[in-house]
Amino acid sequence: MDNQLSNTINNLSESETLAMTRMSRELIAEGKDVISLSIGEPDFNTPQFIKDAAIKAINENYTHYTPVPGYPELRKAISTKFKRDNNLDYTPEQIVVSTGAKHSLANIALSLLNPNDEVILPAPYWVSYKEIVKLAGAKHVSIPSSIEQDFKVTADDIKKAITDKTRMVWFSTPCNPSGSVYTKSELEDIAKLIAQYPHIIIVSDEIYEHINFNDKHESIAQFDYIKDQVVTVNGVSKGFAMTGWRIGYIGAPKWIADACTKMQGQFTSGTSSISQKAAQAALEADSSCTLEMRKAFEKRRELVLNLMSDIPGLKLNNPKGAFYVFPDVSSYFGKTDGKTIINNASDLAMYLLNEGLVALVSGDAFGDSNCIRFSYATSEDILIEAIKRIKNTLALLH
Ligand code: PMP
Ligand code: GLU
Repeated sequence: MDNQLSNTINNLSESETLAMTRMSRELIAEGKDVISLSIGEPDFNTPQFIKDAAIKAINENYTHYTPVPGYPELRKAISTKFKRDNNLDYTPEQIVVSTGAKHSLANIALSLLNPNDEVILPAPYWVSYKEIVKLAGAKHVSIPSSIEQDFKVTADDIKKAITDKTRMVWFSTPCNPSGSVYTKSELEDIAKLIAQYPHIIIVSDEIYEHINFNDKHESIAQFDYIKDQVVTVNGVSKGFAMTGWRIGYIGAPKWIADACTKMQGQFTSGTSSISQKAAQAALEADSSCTLEMRKAFEKRRELVLNLMSDIPGLKLNNPKGAFYVFPDVSSYFGKTDGKTIINNASDLAMYLLNEGLVALVSGDAFGDSNCIRFSYATSEDILIEAIKRIKNTLALLH
């Protein structure tokens, strides 16, 4: 039968993080002992007090449709959180709760972008940004960086990419996949630049806020002169180990919040009532559970960097946040084990999966074809075994 799917879906790529995770699940089902480090998901379970809040919500019949942008008490809790943690003033009316930060991002793109608008994505960028921009009919403009720049771009780099079609600059800090964290002064430089272009919106994805090994998380919306041009995106998936609950949110100028509410009113009617109650408990709590998880991630980062620095040919940065390392593996390009030739990072990811039984994600998915992403959101024993496998497998290549 002819392909009867829409052009939209035919043009959309499958999420490569999820595709790699699917492939490793298939190999595991065939009986292969694959270690999957392909998905960025905390291995911790959701803290008990958050689960208790959800059970209470069910018993108290929070089981109906909620207001489209979220329960007022949750939006109030988010407004308080923004002030407490980030010194940002967002009223509850400027907050929209959605089905994961991924959905928040889709709302923003579909609400603000027109065909042929350009969205600047400093690379490496999170895998879904490009596809979400494409879904909105717009074009992404990638700005390269490299490990030598700690995978960060400067205001000057952004300036060179701005055209009269630029509508957004979109990035994450801490960054998935590089783990890089923009400093306050780097953000200030970007804020000063974008303030000169009042029609450009900054989408600041801060979902890894709590997994930041620097002193303090910095939000670009803290600079008053840019705040009306910023959408701050966050959620509970990473910091509170709540990936399956699907709660993300934005703080934004009211006209953008209203547009996102209108958008999701037609798509989801708002997100799960029970998850919203759980998220409220998470956001109102003190920071002890997030701190504990952050400490565990920091210890794993040290372990991974130590063990990986022993592998010849890998170039590593020192990620200051999130739970990924993003080594430059280009020294392996052109090498072979006598049967398979490694031409690029995707070949290497497939080689490590098939020969080494470790699933990683090629940097191509993130706009950097020299690198490969390794998630260390798993136990130390598994990390040690995975790195041993990677080292032994890479040693087969000459
Ligand atoms: N932004 C970034 C940078 C991410 O890594 C993720 C993780 N999936 C998301 C957004 C989406 O998070 P979620 O939809 O689980 O809230
Ligand atoms: N953010 C995670 C990752 O980058 C989750 C997977 C996804 O949503 O694509 O792996």
